[in-house]
Amino acid sequence: MTRDELRALVRTIPDHPKPGILFRDVTTLLLHAEGFAAAIEALAGTVPGRPDLVAGMEARGFVVATALALKLGAGLLLIRKDGKLPGATIGEDYALEYGTDRLTMHVDACAPGAAVLLADDLIATGGTALAAARLVRRAGARVTGARFLIDLPDLGGAAKLQTDGIETQSLLA
Ligand code: AMP
Repeated sequence: MTRDELRALVRTIPDHPKPGILFRDVTTLLLHAEGFAAAIEALAGTVPGRPDLVAGMEARGFVVATALALKLGAGLLLIRKDGKLPGATIGEDYALEYGTDRLTMHVDACAPGAAVLLADDLIATGGTALAAARLVRRAGARVTGARFLIDLPDLGGAAKLQTDGIETQSLLA
């Protein structure tokens, strides 16, 4: 499938969850068997080597991270919203394009020195991905890259990640 065909599978919903936000809805891409597979295939093809773990940020990041982890032969690290994980956690606050939130990770989820690839459906301001990167680094692991289905380049998140030394690529902009 071409990038334009994949782009056409993403639905845009204006004014969700707040007036002025153009919500890029990937659920329509996920519903499309060929499109979902092609998107993951293309994203996995941009990853050099094999990370130890792919880290997905709740909730849509879980979908992308799970598919990438299976494709790459990596483990799956779930980075969750506050109050969800049962074990001992570390947490980082972050600002969203719409609101603020806190991400947490099991304190023993990644071994020191492990290579971790971040994955989410979309990068906007980069606040979510940078909070996830802080968690992974606090655990002593390395963030070797970040992958997204969609980049909103006007919001500057991908550039911020690159500045932070995180090799970042997205399928669609
Ligand atoms: P940010 O932390 O600003 O990079 O925001 C990225 C996170 O918020 C991702 O987990 C996205 O799922 C979600 N998100 C932010 N803006 C949008 C948008 N315009 N459309 C869809 N999801 C968004």
